[in-house]
Amino acid sequence: MEDVEKHFGAFHALKTINLTIGEGEVVVVIGPSGSGKSTLCRTINRLETIDSGRITIDGKDLPAEGKALARLRADVGMVFQSFNLFAHKTIKENVTLGPVKVRGQKAAEADKRAQELLTRVGVAHQADKYPAQLSGGQQQRVAIARALAMDPKVMLFDEPTSALDPEMINEVLDVMTSLARSGMTMVVVTHEMGFARRAADRVVFMADGQILEDTDPETFFTAPEHERAKDFLSKIL
Ligand code: ATP
Ligand code: MG
Repeated sequence: MEDVEKHFGAFHALKTINLTIGEGEVVVVIGPSGSGKSTLCRTINRLETIDSGRITIDGKDLPAEGKALARLRADVGMVFQSFNLFAHKTIKENVTLGPVKVRGQKAAEADKRAQELLTRVGVAHQADKYPAQLSGGQQQRVAIARALAMDPKVMLFDEPTSALDPEMINEVLDVMTSLARSGMTMVVVTHEMGFARRAADRVVFMADGQILEDTDPETFFTAPEHERAKDFLSKIL
């Protein structure tokens, strides 16, 4: 992201954002409510437009529309706070739908891959159930499997555990930690500082639409530069 600006009407939501994320890097984005974390994530796959600046993936500008945008979105997996599974499809159908419709995979191939991914996130035995029959933590792990089924180049997570009961948070964070260790490029908005310490290569701290800190977790947690970051850490640690 180069000099990215974003307004919502008169409100300046992203202020001169410069951020480079390398292949295989895990970047945790934290900051107070309203600081622009979700907006930042959403601009990366064009769920939000930008006013000016550039966003490139693999050296290519983000396409505005059409097939190129669909391809880009297929390369950028996104997992939200709410699980967003298709309620009237089974768990396995949730995972196979994208690969069959968007990637043109054969049903049998998509099925096999879905079963592998559901095993990887620990819900293989739930494959024929419907989302409402699963716990929140299980549904969120299915959402991760569904995103992975598209073979994304990057995974974006926007507060993936904040709607979960405490006992389910770790099962989702464990899946994300193992994904991080597998070399996936990840942008993770989260207030789970244990995850940040364990899995992040970098921590980006946002306040008022700006990136105030962009550093390794050790430095961020022990010696943040800005008062806003110190203040934020004193409230959540
Ligand atoms: P939270 O921690 O609460 O999720 P956040 O850091 O993700 O906060 P954003 O959702 O990115 O914050 O919002 C940043 C600011 O932009 C907020 O003040 C929000 O009200 C505003 N905003 C976000 N989306 C819109 C929109 N579609 N229209 C108008 N204002 C918006
Ligand atoms: Mg948000």
